[in-house]
Amino acid sequence: MIEKTLILLKHDSVFRGLIGKIITRFEETGLKIVAIKMVWPDEHLAKNHYFLDAQWAQNVFDKTKAGYEKDNKPFPYKNAMQLGEQIQKWNIQFLSEGPVVAIIIEGPHAIEIVRKMVGSTEPKSSPPGTIRGDFAMIESYAIADKNARVLRNLIHASDSQISAEREIALWFQSNEIHSYKKELDKHF
Ligand code: AMP
Repeated sequence: MIEKTLILLKHDSVFRGLIGKIITRFEETGLKIVAIKMVWPDEHLAKNHYFLDAQWAQNVFDKTKAGYEKDNKPFPYKNAMQLGEQIQKWNIQFLSEGPVVAIIIEGPHAIEIVRKMVGSTEPKSSPPGTIRGDFAMIESYAIADKNARVLRNLIHASDSQISAEREIALWFQSNEIHSYKKELDKHF
């Protein structure tokens, strides 16, 4: 039940001066930061992070389609892999354009709790109270796609145990990950 998850404060968070505000939210839940660093990713790291396979492409396709349907807009894409390739290209470019704060958060149900706090991929659909809903609500699929760029949604968070393990190994060496006790630990 004690899980580790990876978050990346992408450069839109860094350039807007939101690093402290976002980290504070996670600290206040009682979850534990066990690794943290600033990295300027190169294209190789960005490409490995946004690893393109059929499942990822389908996921992006389904979420984007639901966003268009919510706005009653015709959905222009036919093929999941084609959209996945496009989004991967934009993601690689975006991620390697500036510094990222990479953090590993640990605690009970960490993956689910962090995803809930982050909100949905499209900031416009993220409720107030979530990080994307509070700090990026005016951003949408329609705006991103019209400008041929990635959704500027501030933060990435691992979506499952399998992704968390893969992503943590990509961003951190094992000697950068720490183990220590916090006050709340005695209850788990
Ligand atoms: P996800 O794995 O769903 O978080 O998607 C990875 C990233 O791709 C998101 O954080 C967005 O920045 C970006 N993204 C996904 N779908 C789209 C889209 N239709 N248009 C622009 N960016 C997108």
